[in-house]
Amino acid sequence: MRVYNDFDLKLYNSYRVNSKCRTAYFPENENDLVELYTSNKEYILLGSGHNIILSKDYYNENFIIFNGNYDAVEVDVHSNVISAEAGATILEVSEAAEKHSLAGVEFFYDIPSSVGGAVVMNAGTKEGETKNVLQKVRYLDLIDMCIKEKVNEELELEYRNSIFQKQKDKVILKAWFQLSSGNQSKIRRIMNESKERRWSKQPREFPNSGSVFKRPPGCFVGPMIDELGLKGFTIGGAQVSKKHSGFIVNVNNASGSDIIEIIKHTQSKVKEKYNIDLEIEQRII
Ligand SMILES: Cc1cc2nc3c(=O)[nH]c(=O)nc-3n(C[C@H](O)[C@H](O)[C@H](O)COP(=O)(O)OP(=O)(O)OC[C@H]3O[C@@H](n4cnc5c(N)ncnc54)[C@H](O)[C@@H]3O)c2cc1C
Repeated sequence: MRVYNDFDLKLYNSYRVNSKCRTAYFPENENDLVELYTSNKEYILLGSGHNIILSKDYYNENFIIFNGNYDAVEVDVHSNVISAEAGATILEVSEAAEKHSLAGVEFFYDIPSSVGGAVVMNAGTKEGETKNVLQKVRYLDLIDMCIKEKVNEELELEYRNSIFQKQKDKVILKAWFQLSSGNQSKIRRIMNESKERRWSKQPREFPNSGSVFKRPPGCFVGPMIDELGLKGFTIGGAQVSKKHSGFIVNVNNASGSDIIEIIKHTQSKVKEKYNIDLEIEQRII
């Protein structure tokens, strides 16, 4: 297991905010995780860091990071099931599926995420969500330090939510995805079209963490923010994207508090005009 002190988190959060932590651990297997939690119960968990806002310049805490480690992906061609460890990317899962002509995770291709993060967030696009393909999850339960498994129906998967957001004392180790036989070139076409469509709408040229807010029932966040004239609204180095107002982008060395200030301002303006409480999708750490 790799361990670093005074670790620079800039490349481990997709907003590219400058931040450091006391120690960062990159576990390679279940034993590493059990060992870490046996010696200390307090860690901040990061997957690939694409849905977080780092609010502090320095964390006097220890991080466990799943990003380029603990990332095996296996395909069982008899059952059409792909299993993947928490630190694998869902892009890798979608490419393994395509390679074996398995359909169902084409929408994973362009969502930047670890497997653990995708389960926590029930990541999805309008083409599908993790809930549709997730068969079961293996996790370390910090209450009794036992490794357990839960099947889809027990995971309280709903729009950008799961049991793992409500119960922070569980660390996802591995997930299994049930896919179906498909046509390889059709699968590849869906993946490519999804990526093309999304890149044409999203501000991929600046660091960001995807949609800032959850979609309130019956309306879209982007158009509401546009109507309020907040497109391009800037605090410090953070800005409401000029390309897609549902995103905040780091245009000039933004800090976590610049991003959080924009969020608070937007929430209060939306409340004032539409009487809607916008809920943040991103996790403030
Ligand atoms: C350009 C862009 C486009 C995006 N498009 C989409 C989209 O279409 N749909 C969508 O749903 N999201 C989208 N997102 C948001 C993001 O990709 C997803 O939320 C993703 O699932 C986050 O995964 P992550 O590994 O980066 O998690 P992180 O951001 O690292 O962590 C998210 C949360 O999960 C927890 N966590 C991570 N790993 C574990 C683990 N192993 N065990 C327990 N808890 C864990 C963390 O503590 C944190 O609370 C987008 C982001 C970007 C930057």
